[in-house]
Amino acid sequence: MNFETIIGLEVHAQLLTKSKMFCRCSADYASAPPNTRVCPVCLGMPGVLPVINQKAVEYAIMTALALNCTISDYTKFDRKNYPYPDLMKGYQISQYDAPIGHHGWLIIEVNGEKKKVDITRVHLEEDVAKLVHCAPPGGESYSLVDVNRAGVPLMEIVGEPGLRSPEEARQYLIKLRSILQYLGVSTGNMEEGSFRCDANISIRPENSPDSLAKVEVKNMNSFKAVYLAMEYEAKRQRKVVAEGKRLVQETRGWVEEKGETVSQRSKEYAHDYRYFPEPDLPPLVLNREWVEEIGAKLPELPEARRHRFVAEYKLPLYDANLLTSSILTADYFEACMTRPPQSLSPKKHAKPVANWIIGEFSRLLNATNTEINESKVSPVALFDLVQLISEGSISGTSAKLVFEEMFKTGRSPGDIVSERGLSQISDTEEIEKDVIAVIKSNNQAVADYKAGKAPALKFLVGQVMRATKGRANPKVVNELLKQKLEEK
Ligand code: ZN
Ligand code: MN
Repeated sequence: MNFETIIGLEVHAQLLTKSKMFCRCSADYASAPPNTRVCPVCLGMPGVLPVINQKAVEYAIMTALALNCTISDYTKFDRKNYPYPDLMKGYQISQYDAPIGHHGWLIIEVNGEKKKVDITRVHLEEDVAKLVHCAPPGGESYSLVDVNRAGVPLMEIVGEPGLRSPEEARQYLIKLRSILQYLGVSTGNMEEGSFRCDANISIRPENSPDSLAKVEVKNMNSFKAVYLAMEYEAKRQRKVVAEGKRLVQETRGWVEEKGETVSQRSKEYAHDYRYFPEPDLPPLVLNREWVEEIGAKLPELPEARRHRFVAEYKLPLYDANLLTSSILTADYFEACMTRPPQSLSPKKHAKPVANWIIGEFSRLLNATNTEINESKVSPVALFDLVQLISEGSISGTSAKLVFEEMFKTGRSPGDIVSERGLSQISDTEEIEKDVIAVIKSNNQAVADYKAGKAPALKFLVGQVMRATKGRANPKVVNELLKQKLEEK
C-alpha cells in the first residue's frame, strides 16, 4: 500500500522586546548572570499581578498580518496547567481559544513549484526557565534552574498539516524565519533557541482522509535536523505498518548523534492541560484603527523585495531569490549598490556584485561560519573590487586572491593590489617589450603562425603572460602580438 506523509509544524519564536511578557524585567536573558533578570512576577510568587507587554502584542499582530491572518477583535489569555521544574508558576500564560491571529497562509516554493500552506493561528505566551543538568564525574547529578528566561515573550505559530515532505517542511521554516527577520520581531536563531520547531507527522493511505497515529517530534535544533527527523520518521512509520504493528500516538525526541527519534511519552491532549481563562488579566480588545496602523507600517517583506531586486537592479529571479532569502544578505547587497558615484548608473555592476555575494563570498562565510554583516569585507570594498575588475585594472584570477585577503584582513582592494603588485598591465608600451622579446626567442612558433597554424598564437600569448607574471591584459597581448607578427 502507498502512504502519504502529512506534516504540520509548530514554531515558537522569542520576540525581540526590551522587557518580558508580563513584567518589567529585561528580556535579554542570555547576556546576564543566572537569576539576575527576575522579579516576583516572573519568579511566580503568590499574590503578584501580570501586566501585558504592548510591544509583544504589536509584534504578534505584525506577524499575523504578514502571514495573511485574520486579526481577532477580541482576544484573551488562558492558563495552561502542567507541572514541570522549569515552569515557575505551575502554569504557563498562553492563549487557548482566542488567539491574536488565525486563518492565515504562507507561500513556499519547492522544485520551482509554488504551494500555499495554511496557518492555523498566531498566539502569544511566555517562555519558561532554563534547566541546566550537571553530572560531575564520580558525583551525584543535579539540575540548576536559571529563571532569566522565564516570562520572555514567545509567539507560537501553528501551521495546518499541509506539508507533504521533509523538503516542504524545511522550505516552510526558511520562509517563516525570513519573514520574522524582515519584520524585525525575532532573531530567528535556531541554534540559540530563539526559534524552535516541533513537528506533527503522520502517514495515511493514499486517497484516504484518515491519518494513522499522529506523532509529535521535538528537540530539533536546526533546519537540517528538522529535515532529517522528518525523513527518519516517515520511513519509521511506514516500516511499523509494513511489519503489521500498530502505530501509537506519542511524543518522540530527535537524537542528533544517533540520527533517530526515540519515544519520550504518550501524547497529552488539550484537556490534560486544564485550560481556563487567566483570571489576572482582562480580555484584550484589539482596536481596529491600531491594527490598521500596524498593517500600514509593515516593512517590505521577502517576496516584495525579491521582485523589486529584479525590477530595480535587473537581476535574474534566481539571484534575487538567493539575495533576499536572508535580510542580512539583501541589506548587504543594497549597501554595495549605494556605492556607485553619480556618474555611474545605480544598476551598474549589480550582476557582478550579486555574483560575488552568491559565489566566493558565501563560500568563505560558510567555511568560517560567519554572518555577512559580521564580515570584515565592507560593502564599499566589495563594490570597489568589482569596479577594479570591470576597468580591467586586475584580472579575474588576481581578483580571487585579492578577495581572499580582503576577507581575512578587511583591507581595501586598492591597497592589496598595489602592495602585491597585482595590477593588470593594459599599457601597450609596457607590454610591447615583452611581446618583441617573445617573438625574437620563439622562431619556430612564429614560423608556425605564418604557416597558418592557429595554436601557435595561443602559445605565444602564453609566453607573454608568463613573462609578465600573469599581469598583462590578455586582450591587449593578443592584439599586440598579431600586430607585431604582421609587421614582421
Ligand atoms: Zn520579572
Ligand atoms: Mn506553546
